[in-house]
This record gives sequence, structure tokens and C-alpha cells, in this order.
Amino acid sequence: MRALISVSDKTGIVEFAQELERLSVKIISTGGTATRLRDNGVEVMGISDVTGFPECLDGRVKTLHPAVHGGILAMREKPEHMKQLEDLNIETIDIVAINLYPFKETILKPGVALEDAIENIDIGGPTMLRSAAKNHKDVVVICDPGDYGQVIRELEETKTVSYDTKYRLALKVFEHTAAYDAMISDYLRKQIEGELPDNLTLTFEKAQELRYGENPHQKAYYYKEIKPWEGALVHAVQLHGKELSFNNINDTNGALETLKEFEEPAVVAVKHANPCGVGVGYDAFDAYVKAYKADPVSIYGGIIAVNRPVDEMTAAEINKIFVEIVIAPDFTKEALDILTQKKNIRLLKLDHILAKAPKDTIDIKKVSGGLLIQEADHSLYDEAEIKIVTDRIPTEREMEDMKFAMKVAKHIKSNGIVLAKDGKTIGIGPGQTNRVWAIENAIRQATESTEGAILASDAFFPFDDNVVAAAKAGITAVIQPGGSVHDEDCIRKANEMGIAMVFTGVRHFKH
Ligand code: 5GP
Repeated sequence: MRALISVSDKTGIVEFAQELERLSVKIISTGGTATRLRDNGVEVMGISDVTGFPECLDGRVKTLHPAVHGGILAMREKPEHMKQLEDLNIETIDIVAINLYPFKETILKPGVALEDAIENIDIGGPTMLRSAAKNHKDVVVICDPGDYGQVIRELEETKTVSYDTKYRLALKVFEHTAAYDAMISDYLRKQIEGELPDNLTLTFEKAQELRYGENPHQKAYYYKEIKPWEGALVHAVQLHGKELSFNNINDTNGALETLKEFEEPAVVAVKHANPCGVGVGYDAFDAYVKAYKADPVSIYGGIIAVNRPVDEMTAAEINKIFVEIVIAPDFTKEALDILTQKKNIRLLKLDHILAKAPKDTIDIKKVSGGLLIQEADHSLYDEAEIKIVTDRIPTEREMEDMKFAMKVAKHIKSNGIVLAKDGKTIGIGPGQTNRVWAIENAIRQATESTEGAILASDAFFPFDDNVVAAAKAGITAVIQPGGSVHDEDCIRKANEMGIAMVFTGVRHFKH
């Protein structure tokens, strides 16, 4: 038996080769790997002695040769194949152990140059892995040092490796080379601006097995991008509490996305991925009190996202109720002392919490039998495009509250309505099947008088009944995208009822 070993990650390779040697397997190897093995007393045949060619072009061409690929790909059960090998003076290769140039590690280096990344695209390695995996009936292929032990054990016990193991190893190789190529195309695509990919290559890696999914009977994993942008949730470090659950991660993501709309001190409380209370203020404490007062019922057991460090006073206030998670850029020592008194609260620290997703971020939704991909919803609206469409001009305070409320409306499920006053939400009506119900729900659950409040809607008012419902509740100004065939009716009704209305021109459906 002959084994070809060519590895960049040399973990466990000496022991593996020594075991193979003990089992009378002959070893062929490439430059650096051969040196390492020889230095450790393993007898190795250099790849050039197999190919009759020197390794050349700075290692770009080492193993790309028929003497290698013929030896791997020949089907042992086909006499013609074996006869051809004999005529061509090629010997079979029965074990292939390879891991690839460290492309991932290279692109993770800060400020890596394109040339450096390209030089770390392995060519010969994936080619051999794929040859061996294709011919897995006859060849054992290993791309993960974690599998050396299993192969040695089987060789020791049965002098061969079972078909089942060879099949699994081959499958692992194709997953591995596919992910490796996806990582390369993803990296290259990110060097150019804003195009959706023609072929979606997803480069996520399994980071964690979760206890369960959305419900206890669903198995689940947490996958992470290879190189997530700096303000992404996956960078959050857990300082305290139990492991995050599937719903924790999803809900915290919802909180964080909303929080990222704000530069000023802001707090977003989330329940079931929908904001339930949002406040902006002078500091974290002020913003938290507003977010809490916005809806003291729903916040219970919710997620609190804060875009300023949490201090002692804020922590003491948060500690008065039960919350699942607090995520913030930092916590003072005193704040941590207070919050960690509770065993079940999870505390997450996220540097760069104000950083926004890059423009080329894509949004993916799974549908049955397919995927929908789109550019993420980066815009809110263009300030210059805002139109006041009513006789009544909104006051400065109303205008500020409307802009604030639109940032929240963008992140609630459609049909979504947000009522706000003085830098805080006072009623949110998320996820309704019609807009009137969304308005009615927001009004019904408002935590203070809606008299003088403003209303933001994620999409246009289809009919003037929405205006009537708002005006009856004492709402004095409305912000919405506009664009309905009944816009004129809505404007007329707003004028009749004395409320101000503003069109943004940008819809924020979130289904
Ligand atoms: P070594 O450290 O042994 O010199 O190189 C090992 C690495 O070379 C492995 O990661 C392997 O995948 C890669 N490799 C093997 N053959 C070739 C080849 O022909 N071309 C390129 N670019 N890489 C190869």
C-alpha cells in the first residue's frame, strides 16, 4: 500500500505517518511535509521521484501529474485500468492525506493583500482530494487530522478500511472542497461593490450545536460567517449566564438590528424578535427608562439592547425586572456586580455596537424548496425626499418623533404601526394582516395617552380609514411612505381632521 501525504496543517502528521510505516505502508510526500517527516525519522519518497518532475513555480505545481492522478483514479476492479498503469509505469496510491493551504487564516489576517490571498489558493491539494474522493471505493481520503486515528485503527484491526468509512471520508472531502471554493469566491466577490451573486455560495461554518431549535423537538446548530463584519452579533462575547438558545440568538439579532438605526444613546427592548419598547435619551439610563415605560408588560423576559456602556444606575434599574439578555458595548464593574446577582440573565458584550452592516450584506429567506436573496434593507429614507403633504405642518418635536418612530417601524413585522412621543414608543402594533388592526392594536395597548402622539407606518395607508382611526385617538402627525392610489383621499381626510402627514417615499415591508 502507498500513502500520499501533503499537508499544510501538520497537526498529528508525524504520528500518523509513523503508524502507517509500522503497518508497512510506503509514504510519498511533498516538500515541507517530506522534510517534517524525515526529520522525525519516517522514510519518505519525494513527490519528484514519483512524477519525474521537480516541484516548481514556487510550489504552484507539485503533484499535478498523471503519475499521481493515475495512481489515485485507476479503478482497481478494471483490468484495462490496471494494465494501463503497468504500461505507463504508474503505481497505485491507496491513501491520500491532505489538508489545504490556509486560505481562511490568510484572509482573516488584518489588511491582507489580494496577492497574498490568491497565493493561498490551493490547487494541487483539492485536485488530489477530489480524485481520491471520486475513487473512494479504492482510495482512503483524509482531509481532517481528526480522522487519522480511525483509519489507523481499522487498518490495524482488519488490514483494510471499510467501505462505509471510505464513503464518509469522501463525502467529507466534497463538503470541504466545496466550502473552500465558496470561501474563495465569496472573498473575491467582496472585493467588488454591491452585486448579488449569480451562484450563491454560502460560506458559513458550524460554530455551535444548540440545545434545540425554535422548539424543543427541533435539532439546531449555530453557523457563523467566515469573516463577519465588525458589528455583527456573532462577535458578541458572553460575560454571564446560560448558553444562548436558538430563540435568544434570533431575538437578540432583532434587537441589535433595530438598535443600529440609532447613533444617540438608545435602548431597544425586544420580544419574539419584534421591538416592544424603544427609547432614546441623554444617556443609557434615560433611554432605558423610556424603553421600559414604553411597554412595562412585554419587556418582561425580553431582550435589552443598549448602545452605550451599562453603568451602575442603569443596571440597578434593569435588575428590577426579569430579562433574558442584556447586550451592550460594555458594562462597568459595578453594573456587572449588580446584574450577575441573577443566575439566569445572559450578558453579552459587543464591541463596535454602533457599526452598521456593509452595503453588500445580503438578506436570505428560506422558502420551501428554495431561497430568496436580496440586498439587505440599508436605507431609511432620503431626508431630501421627505414631503409634507398636508395643510398642517408638523412641529419640530413631531418631526423628530416621526423620524425616530420610522426607524422602529422598519424593524417590526408588517403590517407594522408605531406610536411615539418624546423619544419613546408608546404603542407598537406589529405583524397584523391589515393596517387598521395594526393601528387599533397600537392604540389599544398604548401605555400613555395617545393625545398628541405621532404615528409611523412601515407602508402606505391603503385607505383613509387609517387616518380616521389615528385622528380619533388624538394622533396629530403621521409619517408613512405614500404611494397608494388612495393617497389623495388620505390627504383630504388628514386635512379635514387637522393632522399633519409626511411621505418618505420608502417602504419598509418586513414579512
Ligand atoms: P508542503 O508543506 O508539503 O510543501 O506542501 C503541502 C501543501 O501543498 C498542501 O496543503 C497541499 O494541499 C499543497 N499541494 C500539493 N500539491 C500541490 C500542487 O501541485 N499545487 C499547489 N498549489 N499546492 C499543492
